[in-house]
Amino acid sequence: MRIGVLSGKGGTGKTTVAVNLALSFAQTHKTQYLDYDVEEPNGFLFLQPEVKEQVSVPLLYPEISDKCTLCGECSKACQYHALAQVSQKVLVFPELCHGCGTCSIVCRYGAVLERERPLGLVELGYHGNLRCVQGILREGEALAVPVIQAVRSRAEERSTEGFEVTVADCPPGSSCSVIHSVEASDLALLVTEPTAFGLHDLKIAVRLVRELGLRHGVVLNKDDGSRLIRDYCGAEDIPLMAAIPFDIGIAKTYSKGLPLLEDSRWAVLFADLRDKLVREVPVQKHED
Ligand code: SF4
Ligand code: SF4
Repeated sequence: MRIGVLSGKGGTGKTTVAVNLALSFAQTHKTQYLDYDVEEPNGFLFLQPEVKEQVSVPLLYPEISDKCTLCGECSKACQYHALAQVSQKVLVFPELCHGCGTCSIVCRYGAVLERERPLGLVELGYHGNLRCVQGILREGEALAVPVIQAVRSRAEERSTEGFEVTVADCPPGSSCSVIHSVEASDLALLVTEPTAFGLHDLKIAVRLVRELGLRHGVVLNKDDGSRLIRDYCGAEDIPLMAAIPFDIGIAKTYSKGLPLLEDSRWAVLFADLRDKLVREVPVQKHED
């Protein structure tokens, strides 16, 4: 079973839900937690896994050699404006380069050399029996998708044991990073809060998962008992899978960087969510 946890915007409690759900599943199933929120990965702050591996994620970018005849084909072909021909030179802007390799293909003179630069990291560790993998995008970099793909590949490479459950902490919003993170999920859990902004961003997230044809349900965080999100879910026929109350104790536990499962009330709440998900999606061993 693969569960993608996402939210229309940051700050809704997405990581709280993903981390505590993964910990709850680890009590009953062979589970891994993947942090795809590579621009701001904070699941490891709560899980504190013992990191066993750290692997660099490289990105290829071109270097123009002295074989260049200034034919102009490479800068015309680059869709990302990472190359510009000025007077007697082809300028390369590595930070705009997506590493697609098109410039190297179109150059008939073999003048494009491929170089690597570090884009980010993938870390793999264990919190008890829960396997944890996170991606970290280097500061100043904008290209999250290759790091997300590296997290996915790393998770798959080490899957000889076969995991029954994967809980993926996806980036917030509705960008292509989110799509790459959630697309392989059996079910998307959309975390929201009972505010007008929360509802607005939830609607965007719902449009996205419907577009992707993913089953989905809502987790309402900071629940104050209001009807706003409940009425929307009712009208749209979206199951409300769990409601986490607005509680000062939760805020204090969060601010100390501790998992909510330390408190038996929240351990029960996440066990209920876990059991609901098991009823919704059959648990089978999978490849990542
Ligand atoms: S395609 Fe090759 S030869 Fe032409 S400008 Fe680019 S690097 Fe130079
Ligand atoms: S690798 Fe792709 S994105 Fe990068 S400079 Fe070449 S054509 Fe542009």
